[in-house]
Amino acid sequence: MISEKMIKLTQGNSVIRAMFEEGKKLAAIHGHENVYDFSLGNPSIPSPSAVNAAIIDIVQNEDPISLHGYMSNIGYPEVREEVALSLNKKFDTKFDKNNIIMSVGAAGGLNVVLKTLINPGDEVIVISPFFVEYGNYVNNYDGKLVIVPACRMDFRPNPETLLAAVTKKTKAVILNSPNNPTGVVYPEETIKALAEVLEKKSKEYGSPIYIISDEPYRELVYDGINVPFIPNFYKNTIVCYSWSKSLSLPGQRIGYIALPGDLDDFDLIFDAASIATRILGYVNAPALIQRVVSRCLDEQTDIDAYDANRKLLYNGLKDLGIEAVYPQGAFYLWLKTPGSDKEFITSAKKYNLLMVPGSAFTSPGYARIAYCVSYETIERSLPAFKKLAEELKLIS
Ligand code: PLP
Repeated sequence: MISEKMIKLTQGNSVIRAMFEEGKKLAAIHGHENVYDFSLGNPSIPSPSAVNAAIIDIVQNEDPISLHGYMSNIGYPEVREEVALSLNKKFDTKFDKNNIIMSVGAAGGLNVVLKTLINPGDEVIVISPFFVEYGNYVNNYDGKLVIVPACRMDFRPNPETLLAAVTKKTKAVILNSPNNPTGVVYPEETIKALAEVLEKKSKEYGSPIYIISDEPYRELVYDGINVPFIPNFYKNTIVCYSWSKSLSLPGQRIGYIALPGDLDDFDLIFDAASIATRILGYVNAPALIQRVVSRCLDEQTDIDAYDANRKLLYNGLKDLGIEAVYPQGAFYLWLKTPGSDKEFITSAKKYNLLMVPGSAFTSPGYARIAYCVSYETIERSLPAFKKLAEELKLIS
């Protein structure tokens, strides 16, 4: 018999991936241009040209043996130093290379951090709706996922609800802002209020509760909105960053973990995380792309293209009587389904509209549209949404 945990996972395979597969099937029947696949958060904008230029230059000019060789598990020291300096410039922090571990995307970073922190039965709080994989990651290390709903008005975490959920066993709280799936950015006042709760509870129980800040969308924000850097508000914060979205590099698997020097048990955590990187089988973050991102730290994807999509989609749906959260960041639109989300998704499929039901994010009654598609796809999808709105009697 194979792993029981894995058998369970094969039975409840990801709804998002299933949608994506369905999209491919529908495209084969109706033609790619007639299927509106909003299921997957795969960036639709190419990486900045500096990325390819760096790849070519590095491959042509650096010593191939050291370029492709093994390295320290935590990554190239000079890359970690560049990342630290860039963070210091942006957030007025005091990092150096000894605060940074290069990771295999945010997913790799989160797994390293959870492996490092969790003892069996430890609780990890997540704010619902949340990125579904958190459940699998916490389960990998026999932790217990504790789901705390965000406020239904603005989808920000509510400090009082958090306070009620923290127990002696709480080891960490995962925060994700800009948020997948809601597109909400948590403002400074929310972060401060959450920090106050966690400080109080850490003191009461005599053991630190860590914030794990999952930040793959940090730079993907609109209208110049500020994304507070959480370590500046709560010292026991571990940041898991990724270039998957900010440089459109999800297949290259590159990110970092930032561990502030005043973190409780810093030395232990840093050393254990370095070992976790190895024993989880990542060994080290991919070599070539580490060097590439270190040359592109001031580069960014074309946020204006996502912004145009955001406005077109939000306003188009609003005109059809479909209510949604106006996204402040990331590339997701979180809409309220008029009836059950499952029925909404089934009706939408009739018009070749593919979205993910809120139930997949533990929030029934909503649906997520990933608008990281071409502008033309959104333009062409609006008549299909109109038909859906007519069927649901949102418009006549
Ligand atoms: N966290 C969130 C909230 C995400 O949306 C994603 C990917 O979509 C990840 C983590 C994983 O990102 P990465 O590709 O960097 O592993």
